[in-house]
Amino acid sequence: MITRRKTNQIKVGTVPVGGDAPVSVQSMTTTKTADVDGTLAQVYALAGAGADIVRITCNEVEAAQGLAEIVPRSPVPIVADIHFQYRLALAALEAGVQGLRLNPGNIRKEAHIKTVAMEAGDRGVPIRIGVNAGSLDKDLLEKYGSAVPDALVESALKEARYLEEVDFTDIKISVKHSNVPSMVESYRLLSDAVDYPLHLGVTEAGPPPGGLIKSVAGIGTLLNEGIGDTIRFSLTADPVEEAKAGRSLLEYLGLRERKGLDLIACPSCGRAEVDVIDVASRAQTALEGEGLPIQVAVMGCVVNGPGEAREADIGIAAGKGKGHLFIKGQVVRVVPESEMVEALLDEARRLAEEGVEARLAAADENASDVAAATRTQLVEIQGDANQSQERRSRVAEVAKNRS
Ligand code: SF4
Repeated sequence: MITRRKTNQIKVGTVPVGGDAPVSVQSMTTTKTADVDGTLAQVYALAGAGADIVRITCNEVEAAQGLAEIVPRSPVPIVADIHFQYRLALAALEAGVQGLRLNPGNIRKEAHIKTVAMEAGDRGVPIRIGVNAGSLDKDLLEKYGSAVPDALVESALKEARYLEEVDFTDIKISVKHSNVPSMVESYRLLSDAVDYPLHLGVTEAGPPPGGLIKSVAGIGTLLNEGIGDTIRFSLTADPVEEAKAGRSLLEYLGLRERKGLDLIACPSCGRAEVDVIDVASRAQTALEGEGLPIQVAVMGCVVNGPGEAREADIGIAAGKGKGHLFIKGQVVRVVPESEMVEALLDEARRLAEEGVEARLAAADENASDVAAATRTQLVEIQGDANQSQERRSRVAEVAKNRS
């Protein structure tokens, strides 16, 4: 159970960030913002994949004009991403965005920052101070020699002071770094220094799988320490993958309720009675679109499968040309191996509709016996990996001789 660090709460449109609000998922569009329909299509795809908030670049006047049409039609709050030109922040506010991201490294004039903050304050729009190691304030780079964690935090605090001086505290902060240990350290320092909600991310993480691993390592480490109120995976990939990954990480950490499928599968081994990779990937494809909030297990053998995956809502294990379908570890049906995926899909739908008790009550009464017989046969052929009496005796013998 993760105990989250208490932060101030702000609201990005309808989405609360910080305090006791659930950790939210963010992503960013890759379309030209002036392409209103293309950008909206991507915003909808991101929202469908789990993004609670979407950021859109506002890098030219046409982009700000596009935002004026996108914001009222968006299913989620929109944050305008601003670099260099503070006037575009004012234009984005006029377009109705629910949040701004300012980069302290490239909007450096105090008067400009304060003008934006006052306008945002009048409109009740929060600002993210988005420090990025790759575009750090030149003065701080000179002072520290490189983009070390202290430099990132100093940049964020300096910007926060500008905003506070005009009574603007509707703030969240990020201190992103592409180096995972530096990113983690930057956020730890920042978390000790402020009560503002924090937006976590490893910047320029790159394409999967490396980008995913870096993001999970950095964001996951901090979330486990209770640090972080909203997250973004910065992947060089379709942004839908970012939203899915962010959402999944929060679900796996128990920070958000499971919204969709959680497919678990054994890694396979010499005992496998089926091509686990193939069955798991077909099951993933078949079940993914169903939107069922269940955990499904695909296990390579009936010897260990149902027992090892007894926490899963439903699963299937292979044994001697058959698929053994189980619910909460209890085998309820035995089907031909060629029908494993179809049977899993069918039973998953029924389970979601009727519930565990009803489906256990509807179990094929012979299924448990067939499964037990197959298991015994396989154990005889292969040996019981977990409970072989012979192995236990040998282990005891070795231990006795060593003592
Ligand atoms: S469930 Fe069976 S096949 Fe899969 S890893 Fe375990 S022992 Fe091997």
